[in-house]
Amino acid sequence: MLIDSYERVVDYLRISVTERCNFRCQYCMPEKPFSWVPKENLLTFEELFLFVKVAIDEGIKKIRITGGEPLLREDLDKFIKMIYDYAPDIDLAMTTNAYLLKSTAQKLRDAGLKRLNVSIDTLKPEVALAIAGKDVLQNVLEGVNEALAVGLKVKVNMVPMKNMNADEIVDVLEYSKKRGMTIRFIEYMENKYASKEISGLKSDELLSMLREHYEFVDEGYDGASPSRYYKMSDGYRFGIIEPYGDDFCKQCNRIRLTAEGQLIPCLYFDEALSIAKSIKEGDIVAASEVLREVVRTKPEKNRWGGEDGEVSTRAFYETGG
Ligand code: SAM
Ligand code: SF4
Repeated sequence: MLIDSYERVVDYLRISVTERCNFRCQYCMPEKPFSWVPKENLLTFEELFLFVKVAIDEGIKKIRITGGEPLLREDLDKFIKMIYDYAPDIDLAMTTNAYLLKSTAQKLRDAGLKRLNVSIDTLKPEVALAIAGKDVLQNVLEGVNEALAVGLKVKVNMVPMKNMNADEIVDVLEYSKKRGMTIRFIEYMENKYASKEISGLKSDELLSMLREHYEFVDEGYDGASPSRYYKMSDGYRFGIIEPYGDDFCKQCNRIRLTAEGQLIPCLYFDEALSIAKSIKEGDIVAASEVLREVVRTKPEKNRWGGEDGEVSTRAFYETGG
């Protein structure tokens, strides 16, 4: 079992399989990065899988594939199948912008994927264009329909921003609810790469807007989930991910692996150790030592909302959020 210095059990690994993306979301990658990680520095799926086996053997029980846009990586279903065949009981999920989902959902499901989180920030084509930098909405919605049709369990992520999509929180909630998908509103997290124009909606503002339409009760955090859940009078639950809140890090069970093998103990910070060398040499003992060291050095708290006004220098497209 992996336990950090604050007695938190770390059993959740997020793997970013690529930093590349077909969107240019204002809060994540408004500009194409000056340079991408060279292809030869990316870990192959065989190499990533070697580390996945180490991680599962050390106590990881939940794996999420993310990016960048994970569906840009060719043969992703084969990687998913490798993980599924090794550990069918692992909670295996993926986060995607859904743009390429229509043609891939069935393959992913057949490979062993169980759950998906899709990012839907708006239901208006022109707002989707403004957020993602291209006309994406139709593909996204068709992708979501296909994912549901093939039997994937889908959750929706929405980042509400003032003067952008804040007026759509009820519409996106209703869209999700009608299709049996839980929605989680994610507070915009400031970072060095995001557009300077963004002003995110904070959870108290979001809650008071939702209270104008619904009655609901605060159910608190659900286990180690990063989301606080609220139950509406008809039983539907929605979540809010509030990294600026005091309690956010208390139950944190996550570490993150980038596509080039940096193992990151916290989304906010730059600190990381690489597993690339040990994995490329097939040295699983060294890889598990790096894993344990990263867990040991996991900080108690992120610094979002810190009084010093510091902004995270970690790119979401690199860590996978
Ligand atoms: N491309 C995929 C997608 O967009 O779903 C997966 C990677 S993306 C980095 C993962 C999640 O991070 C998405 O739900 C996205 O909305 C969220 N995200 C990215 N930048 C963010 C920011 N600055 N604040 C809050 N959430 C952010
Ligand atoms: Fe791409 Fe996802 Fe970042 Fe948007 S949030 S730019 S879809 S990685």
